[in-house]
Amino acid sequence: ASVLLIKSGTPLLLDGQRGRLHVDADSHTLQRAAEERDNREQRLKAAAEQRHQAAHTTDGHAVEVFANIGESAGVAAAVENGAEGIGLLRTELIFMAHPQAPDEATQEAEYRRVLDGLAGRPLVVRTLDVGGDKPLPYWPIAKEENPFLGVRGIRLTLQRPLIMEAQLRALLRSADNRPLRIMFPMVGSVEEWRQARDMTERLRREIPVADLQLGIMIEVPSAALLAPVLAKEVDFFSIGTNDLTQYTLAIDRGHPTLSAQADGLHPAVLQLIDITVRAAHAHGKWVGVCGELAADPLAVPVLVGLGVDELSVSGRSIAEVKARIRELRLAQAQTLAQQALAVGSANEVRALVEAM
Ligand code: PEP
Ligand code: MG
Repeated sequence: ASVLLIKSGTPLLLDGQRGRLHVDADSHTLQRAAEERDNREQRLKAAAEQRHQAAHTTDGHAVEVFANIGESAGVAAAVENGAEGIGLLRTELIFMAHPQAPDEATQEAEYRRVLDGLAGRPLVVRTLDVGGDKPLPYWPIAKEENPFLGVRGIRLTLQRPLIMEAQLRALLRSADNRPLRIMFPMVGSVEEWRQARDMTERLRREIPVADLQLGIMIEVPSAALLAPVLAKEVDFFSIGTNDLTQYTLAIDRGHPTLSAQADGLHPAVLQLIDITVRAAHAHGKWVGVCGELAADPLAVPVLVGLGVDELSVSGRSIAEVKARIRELRLAQAQTLAQQALAVGSANEVRALVEAM
């Protein structure tokens, strides 16, 4: 409302990086902002030139940078942007692009297209994540009081085993010995993971796949807290910080006034990421982050310092994330991460990173 009171013609300075609006900024602030913008543009240009090279910290620690996509056609741009693999294929978007539920053959063709485009790079696919706030027009779901806390993700597909099996079969058939990783969304209990795993393993006896890993998304705090148990059984974890933040802070990720406070750099969320990474590494498993946080330049040093092995981001962020990794020294990032775990708010974490 206060923005509407600003006099017409007043110059505004919008800092999208920090999420700040300066009203009628003085000339010094304006000049600093212009310099910052020009520097950033130059950094991005330099980063783009190196987008196809792997990202290592200055002391040689490798962090993989993958892409998130929602349609099979997106794979070409992801690879062109420097993706080392697909870290999150949101298959519900493929379902939503069809006027009715795509059958097994239609799905197989879609998944094949992605694997073909990856030319041997790994594909991490998420099984159908609908329900709650993400309905499918041809798949009526009972109305719920709290859809975010309702029948969504793995809870829904386990209730519709025929749909889940068709998707898994299509995925297994598309693999042809290429590196396929399947993960299940919204897992909150060991039973859900085991049911999904057992279903996949049963189908795998029918459709053998040489290079398959099964994992879960860490999006529900209970899954992060159970990571020491789950890590013994899964091949990998991929942390969905969008939902993990929403459920940890009890803030609707799309809330019109509160969602800006749903910051994945909140130390409470970082604690859950820390538990997840420690548990995974204790059992020789890898951990990715595929929520928006992975693309936040201030979050990259913290995530690397916490030991995250792979960051999956939108195609346009790949070069910048890689460049950010190349600026870091692992020991320095680790110290930063420990400091971040010990403060009380996301703003304090952001200040720590800016002061680094
Ligand atoms: C997440 O929750 O962080 C995630 C990657 O899944 P989505 O944003 O599709 O819910
Ligand atoms: Mg999610």
